[in-house]
Amino acid sequence: MMPLANYRGRKVVVLGLARSGAAAAKLFHQAGCVVTANDRKEREACPEASELEALGISVVCGGHLNDLVTADTALLVKNPGIPYTASPVVQAEALGVEVVTEVEVAGQLSPAPIVGITGSNGKTTTTTWSGELLAAAGLAPIVAGNIGRPLVDAAQEIGPDGWLVAELSSFQLKGTSGFHPRIACLLNLAETHLDYHGTMEDYVASKAKLFANLADGDTAVFNADDPVCARIGQSSAGRKLPFSLTRRLSPGVSVEPPFAAGGAGEPSDSQPAERWIVARDAGGAETRIARVDRLGIPGRHNCANALAAVAIALAAGAAPASLQEPLERFKGVEHRLEFVGTFREVRYFNDSKATNPTATIMSVSSLPAPLVLIAGGLDRGSDYRELIPLFRERLKGVVALGETREKIRKVAEEAGLTSVAVVEPVEDAAETLKRAVLEAAAMAEPGDIVLLSPACASWDMFQSYEDRGRIFKQSAHTL
Ligand code: ADP
Repeated sequence: MMPLANYRGRKVVVLGLARSGAAAAKLFHQAGCVVTANDRKEREACPEASELEALGISVVCGGHLNDLVTADTALLVKNPGIPYTASPVVQAEALGVEVVTEVEVAGQLSPAPIVGITGSNGKTTTTTWSGELLAAAGLAPIVAGNIGRPLVDAAQEIGPDGWLVAELSSFQLKGTSGFHPRIACLLNLAETHLDYHGTMEDYVASKAKLFANLADGDTAVFNADDPVCARIGQSSAGRKLPFSLTRRLSPGVSVEPPFAAGGAGEPSDSQPAERWIVARDAGGAETRIARVDRLGIPGRHNCANALAAVAIALAAGAAPASLQEPLERFKGVEHRLEFVGTFREVRYFNDSKATNPTATIMSVSSLPAPLVLIAGGLDRGSDYRELIPLFRERLKGVVALGETREKIRKVAEEAGLTSVAVVEPVEDAAETLKRAVLEAAAMAEPGDIVLLSPACASWDMFQSYEDRGRIFKQSAHTL
């Protein structure tokens, strides 16, 4: 994208009004552009419309117009969730109109250096944790992006002395070209979002865009245990600061003594007490940062998230001694392996955010067996067979629901489980989930754990994974 000022007096179309769209529409309007904002939803479902119109922005709701994008359109700013098959996007691409997300715009606006964090799993946890580490080090971060707050808003608020810490999805990154973070972090890559990206290549290429504009003075933080992440990180410009659970790295952030390679996870209670997070410089000089068994959240995957957050904080200039306290204090983010409570001597955990099989594998592996798992949801065509060994080794029972319920049942049966229940949908999705919780409660015995970790997105039944998690928690509380 050209510098923002070059769009003055020119036509800019903003597609999708919610949150980031409204922020982008206002911004381009203020920059003197002729803005048309469009949303497929009906006007009653677009609460931002009136405010934008009051500013003089033209707003079209209730569908995508045929002539929305024309040859004189200078830019299309797209909500990340809108697919590239939507007619105005197809039209823009046919006319050679550049299509961006607000991340591209925010990158131009921010006077502060940016930390961009992406990956298939662990983004919100690592972004939030990194924000805590930077704050403890006095580096004045603002955390935004996919995590809730539009990046353009945060980019306009932050001063030159802060750090903009941005959680970035592949959907957001696909719509960037000039985005240039000071620190880019790639956590991991799993097969996900293929319904949107079409191919794994497109998904990986979107993530790799985060590193495309790195230069001298920037840092690439990446997971050295993931071969594709390592390839992207190593081939980028700038300083490299990889992290690993399984190998000593110089330079890099690793675990001492390392975890065994290949294991999906390790229950938190079997971690040796004296395992440390250690940072090494290129010459091999090491600094002990914090003890793994004292990290605020359990599980090997969260240790990987901690390594990434430490690497980011060190790259931003945090004093190593400032990191231990926030690493131990952090208690995680709601709906991510969140402890709900103990009911009838059974512990309940809400991991509604686990929207793909890899996330579920990590979470199940982080808790002590035996577990009763509630899983299933939107069918994105994933192959759930990768869950078979996990189901066999760590589960006592499975309760399946949602569009994928029959696939999950088959996987459970192939894993040799005998306690398998399928909850058929009733009209009220909350009631369906409540029935699933009752089924799980009936399978669990005192001392067991019931875990909601669906391995699937929630949109077949719920508005969001947050809704699903809240209903799960309420159902557990009323047992
Ligand atoms: P994201 O924002 O990328 O969706 P979150 O931090 O919200 O990630 O975590 C979502 C779920 O992903 C967690 O509940 C956990 O099951 C799993 N998870 C978190 N971190 C990792 C990781 N580093 N590797 C694999 N799975 C992870």
